[in-house]
Amino acid sequence: MVTDDIASLKRTVKGALILPAPGVVSSVDLVAMPEDQWRALRNRISDGHNGDPNGLEAQCMFPGCGGHVYVSERAKGKGRRRYPYFAHRQGEGLGCPWHPRSKLTADEARAAQYQGNQVSAAHEFICAELDRLVRRDVRFQAVEIDRTYVAGDQGQRGRYPDVRFRWEGFPECVCEVQLSNTFQPEISERGIFYEGKGMPLIWVLHGVEPRLDNLPSSFRDVILRHKNNAFALDREAIAASESENTLILKCFLLDKGRSVVETHLVRFDALRFPNRGLPYFRNMLLPDIGSFRARRLPWIDALKALKEATDGNWYTSNMALPQVVRAFDTLPRPMADAEDRYDFARLVAMTMTLLSEAGGRYQDLVYRQMPNATAALNTFLSRGGPQQACAEAIRTLVDRSALANKLKPTVREHIMRAISLEPEQVRPRHPFYDALSWLVPEVFDDVVREELELGEALPGWASVRSL
Ligand SMILES: [Zn+2]
Repeated sequence: MVTDDIASLKRTVKGALILPAPGVVSSVDLVAMPEDQWRALRNRISDGHNGDPNGLEAQCMFPGCGGHVYVSERAKGKGRRRYPYFAHRQGEGLGCPWHPRSKLTADEARAAQYQGNQVSAAHEFICAELDRLVRRDVRFQAVEIDRTYVAGDQGQRGRYPDVRFRWEGFPECVCEVQLSNTFQPEISERGIFYEGKGMPLIWVLHGVEPRLDNLPSSFRDVILRHKNNAFALDREAIAASESENTLILKCFLLDKGRSVVETHLVRFDALRFPNRGLPYFRNMLLPDIGSFRARRLPWIDALKALKEATDGNWYTSNMALPQVVRAFDTLPRPMADAEDRYDFARLVAMTMTLLSEAGGRYQDLVYRQMPNATAALNTFLSRGGPQQACAEAIRTLVDRSALANKLKPTVREHIMRAISLEPEQVRPRHPFYDALSWLVPEVFDDVVREELELGEALPGWASVRSL
């Protein structure tokens, strides 16, 4: 409730760097503090402003602003409870988009900033904290801040990573502290660069609160590349790192609608380091395999009903069977023509039969009773016309599944012969192929398949390695 109220304030300071401690405090952290805690913070910031050497200094975290801030408060709701928020001191932060009188949008301010190439105090603070914390781990070997140039390959320019460090048993890792003025091409280039070097790259966000609605698009890009994980180094993560003597980050997990659904403190060594793409704690973009399975159920029902009604010898006229009509009704794009429906149902029948074999429970859903999947497929491909036109799609299924190791070598010959007899093959963007991609995305939808592979969530039957 309170968090939403703060988030809805467009022009409010969303984070402060408070030195010498606690460092970065977001507006959400502040509002979550018990009243005596935020009042103590407020007092020490006031003291510091008034010259007390034991006081604190607090600066706005909008990159490049650095204007001094204080903890203000306002009454709200029933009982007029009081809530704290950060505000720029009078005369400070006038060019800052978080200033209430600012006319700049955050994007305009960032664009102006980018020209000046400023490094904010908060940025330096986070780099220094990362440096300090990675040293606490017993596996620590080396760390450097913004110092060593990582050379590019021929024609490619090199990089100065914000923080690079090495722990025993880990590849050399890079942390880039993400400023909200880092632009998209730079984010993409760095990802490609470090991936090429075999150096895992973690973007540590700062200057914004991932729970806010109005995240700059560059932050959204970074979060997406981390599989909808957003990493930050806040007070809580710093305290946890100190007590466990290793690097611990705050990790916000976002759902596909980009709402934060869980927040964890995660050890750096508990992250997953995929071969392709950036590290993550949990892949929040994994496709929902259960929903794919559910798409196929009405089709399996329809095929069983067809077989029962026709003893495995079905024709176009059988497409009127209620279960078959229901199955066709589930497709995202309707298929009206009766001949098309018959040909597509044959393709689905062959596909489901092959999937049953791939999953280790062979079931003939095309014919009366073929002894095995190889026999069923070879028979299917021997019939000219529309069935042979599906040979290439079936080859994709065989190549991308456990069938690659299960079917007899003769199927390759039958597939090749069918392709040569029927040059007009069912390919991507053909209505049959697209409907098949929807039914079995684990195999036919390239994007879904890649995500599952990276998340190590590809089902065994859809992997080439045998079960
Ligand atoms: Zn500011």
